[in-house]
Amino acid sequence: MLRLAIQKSGRLSEDSLALIRECGINFISSSYKLKTEATNFPLEILFLRDDDIPGYVQDGVADLGIVGQNVLVEAGYPELEVEALGFSKCRLSLAVPRADAYASVAALQGKNIATSYPNILGRYLAENGVQSHLHTISGSVEIAPSIGLAEAICDIVSSGSTLLGNGLREVETVFRSEAVLIAQPNLSVEQTELLEQLRFRMQAVRRAKR
Ligand code: ATP
Ligand code: ZN
Repeated sequence: MLRLAIQKSGRLSEDSLALIRECGINFISSSYKLKTEATNFPLEILFLRDDDIPGYVQDGVADLGIVGQNVLVEAGYPELEVEALGFSKCRLSLAVPRADAYASVAALQGKNIATSYPNILGRYLAENGVQSHLHTISGSVEIAPSIGLAEAICDIVSSGSTLLGNGLREVETVFRSEAVLIAQPNLSVEQTELLEQLRFRMQAVRRAKR
């Protein structure tokens, strides 16, 4: 038996459920249940907040998970990744107020930056030799400059329209992300065999879409 954790409701949910179904795995999902069992594969599906998924898989509470690389790397468990899934592609970018001068990342030296990704951003700034003050906030990061909390932000961008609407412009890509399958480090021999079956099916689904 394998336990797979996926996001309960959010941008990963629909594509995660569709992928499991496209692998030929049948299950009944109802919006208010927190777990369900597949009817034709030894798989239990848990529905969780995406931020909790890396920790649960690292601890073995869940055997597998589907989560964005942004959340996985920020949580500090990149080594759990076993398969890139090709959906929920997005990027983590730095943005500054549209009118502000910006030549390079050095412009952020000594500045305040609001983000939900202090670990990924901190590493990026260190690699570029820049020291900034990071303010960790969990949501609505893009309003931070207009309320005087920060001179720049680092957040997930897909279309750029949220940035534009808040008078910001994207200046650096810090990290590129997509959804990945992750697995706990101590699977049994039987579970490893099931994981390989699952990966084989997921790869076939992706090939069929190309
Ligand atoms: P939860 O309530 O589970 O904590 P959340 O609000 O943190 O959800 P979502 O906005 O649903 O998270 O995003 C989940 C993941 O989807 C992100 O961590 C990222 O990997 C990916 N993602 C975010 N924004 C986009 C986007 N615009 N396009 C594609 N993928 C995205
Ligand atoms: Zn989340």
